[in-house]
Order: sequence, then C-alpha cells, then structure tokens
Amino acid sequence: MHKDIEKILYSEKDIENIVNTIAKQIEKDYNDKDFIMVGLLKGSVAFMVDLMRKVNLDFSIDFIVASSYGSGTVSSGRVNIQKDISQSVEGKDILIVEDIIDSGNTLDFITKYLKAKKAKSVKLCTLFNKPDRRVADIHIDYAGAVIPDEFIVGYGLDYDEKYRNLPYVGVLKPSVYS
Ligand code: 5GP
Ligand code: MG
Ligand code: MG
Repeated sequence: MHKDIEKILYSEKDIENIVNTIAKQIEKDYNDKDFIMVGLLKGSVAFMVDLMRKVNLDFSIDFIVASSYGSGTVSSGRVNIQKDISQSVEGKDILIVEDIIDSGNTLDFITKYLKAKKAKSVKLCTLFNKPDRRVADIHIDYAGAVIPDEFIVGYGLDYDEKYRNLPYVGVLKPSVYS
C-alpha cells in the first residue's frame, strides 16, 4: 500500500466487480443505440478504460476535460470546459462516464451543454456517488458505489494531481493535507 494511504476502501477486485455490474446494465440498455461513451478527464480515465472493454457493443468514445476543482477538496461551483468533445453529438445518445459525483455541478453543466448541442439523450454513469454533498438536481443512471462524505483518491482520483495511478481507492492520511 502507498505510504500516504490510511485505509483502502475499494480493492482492485472490488472495483472490478462494480465495473462488471455496470457494464452489463449498459449492454442491456444500449444494445440498439448509436452511442458515444464520453469520459470526463482526468478522473474517469481508469474507470473508462476498464468499463469500455467490458461493454460488448459497437460505440465510439470521446473525452471532455472540464474543471470545477482546483488543487483543493471543495468544489468551486464553476465549471470550465478546457477540451471539448471532438465529434458532433447531434442526434446521438451520449453516455457520460465520471469518476465521482459530489456537488453534481460538473455533471449538471455538462449535461445541459450536450443537450444544447442537440444530443438525443444524455445519461450519466459514475463509479462513485457522494449523495450527501449534492447541490445540483441531477439524475444518475448508473452508479457504482455510494461514498460517505470522505475525500478519496486512487483509480483515477487525485489529490493535487497525485495518486491517480493507484489501482485501488482509499483515504489519505491527515498528515498529507497539512
Ligand atoms: P462535483 O462537480 O460533482 O462537485 O465534482 C465532481 C468532481 O470533483 C469529480 O469528478 C472529482 O474530480 C472531484 N471530486 C469530488 N469528490 C472527490 C473525492 O472524494 N476525491 C477526489 N479525488 N476528487 C473528488
Ligand atoms: Mg471527475
Ligand atoms: Mg481532482
């Protein structure tokens, strides 16, 4: 285990099980659809590559870079698109893949943004959900696990751009923040 991690919440195996469950649901729902799986970078990177390889359908993938967090742990409420999707979404079914939904501000903004670009449908898929901290009124279509109000890192999730490469998800030692 990494020296900065206090405890592991989800092991590699736990995450694999969650990903497999979500992939099966997506396969069922998107069977006859012309869809784009859109990952929000950078946090969704690990989840996206694992998930897309488990969904046995034809679809395209794309990425959006949006930011609402700086280097800290509290959402600013402002969302800024730093890299847009690279193809037209008009008439397409969009499945957004996110690492974690906290305030929901990022997803609320991105959903409205894609609908304004005439996407046929926009659904949300997140590996982790923190419902206690929700601010925006959003509907999550696929959610992996519920996280209490704790700041987690690993499997794509960072603290100050570190720990994204950990294959598990855990909580940092308090000493790392101070
Ligand atoms: P929201 O707009 O829902 O408040 O923020 C979503 C984004 O904030 C996530 O995609 C993620 O990048 C970041 N975030 C929210 N909670 C956590 C957390 O517990 N750990 C980490 N590393 N990032 C988080
Ligand atoms: Mg994210
Ligand atoms: Mg971050």
